[in-house]
Amino acid sequence: MVKICSLCGIEKSLDEFHKFIHSKDGYRSRCKECRKTITKKYREENTDKVRESQKRYREDNKELVKQRKKEYYENNKEKVLEKNKEWRENNPDYNKEYSSKYREKNRDLLNEKAKQWRKDNPEYMPAYMKTYLLFIFFVIIIIQNQFLNEI
Ligand SMILES: [Zn+2]
Repeated sequence: MVKICSLCGIEKSLDEFHKFIHSKDGYRSRCKECRKTITKKYREENTDKVRESQKRYREDNKELVKQRKKEYYENNKEKVLEKNKEWRENNPDYNKEYSSKYREKNRDLLNEKAKQWRKDNPEYMPAYMKTYLLFIFFVIIIIQNQFLNEI
């Protein structure tokens, strides 16, 4: 079975056409190749428009987009993490700048978060804290010994 593309006029086999139930023969009148070219051309000529409409869609469907992102993440965790890592490796400067800006902007929030984390994880003690406590402990013993000696 062959069909003539209405755009390029080339006779092509049916699998060169997209299926389309609304047309008489069940196939698009333009071949895949032509449709691809048209779509690409449209995108190139309307980058701003396409971007704008994507942006508008995201803004109008914030919750949905968030939900989809979350779902995608849940289903593709490893892939997403791998991609993020790759991106960070390819954009070290951006990441540095971003995180320092982010830290600056959210200092209070981050401090609060760190505080909360320490509260939630009391068993975790930083190494310097351990050393410090050990030091205090020894000082107390020394003072005690001295005190006992004086008596
Ligand atoms: Zn064609």
